Amino acid sequence: MQPHEYLLKGKIVCGTCGRAMIYSNTTTQSMYRCMSTHANPAAACHKLKVSTADVDDMVITTIKKQAEVILNSDDLSSFRKTTASNKRLDGLGIQPNNADVEKQIELLSQQRQRCYECFMNLEIDRDTFRSMKSDYTSQIDALTQRRAMFQQAAFKRDADKKTAALAKDAMRETTAPKDIVNALIDKVFIFPGNQIEIHWKFTSFAETGAL
Ligand SMILES: [Zn+2]
Repeated sequence: MQPHEYLLKGKIVCGTCGRAMIYSNTTTQSMYRCMSTHANPAAACHKLKVSTADVDDMVITTIKKQAEVILNSDDLSSFRKTTASNKRLDGLGIQPNNADVEKQIELLSQQRQRCYECFMNLEIDRDTFRSMKSDYTSQIDALTQRRAMFQQAAFKRDADKKTAALAKDAMRETTAPKDIVNALIDKVFIFPGNQIEIHWKFTSFAETGAL
């Protein structure tokens, strides 16, 4: 690996001072070092350093462990199956129902408008109008709520699908570690005592660990 292409480039942050840690490759060992407090012996992260290989190993191990947990979780078990069965699941999806709900809301709004016109034309009295109007409104409200639920379910489904796809990629032996890291890791915070905190790009992967 080229020195400027090390695995966690641009992602290693000193958890104490919040500055980027510097990659340094000596003849003996490569390290991430906090240089921002180098001249300040009183700082908690003064001369803080951590072995690059240790951090890399810990990050990759954590990713694989999390990917395994995700792929074994009940929520996502359906996404483990073959693409064919995923397609079948897609067929049972949210969209047709949602379109139906949309149509019903539209229809009820039109009916409510019509009953207002009837009232204005003195075809129905005020009490009838009020009771019809409130009936239509509560039906529309219930459907609007249902539509929101469908949308939420569809959103969660998409997110789960994306998470499962990322987890599958991470588990695949042929995926380059650099690609896995770039897809999943936002930042890695280093604290004194070899404590590490991973900030994921996807909260679904969230997990903290120590060396
Ligand atoms: Zn620092």
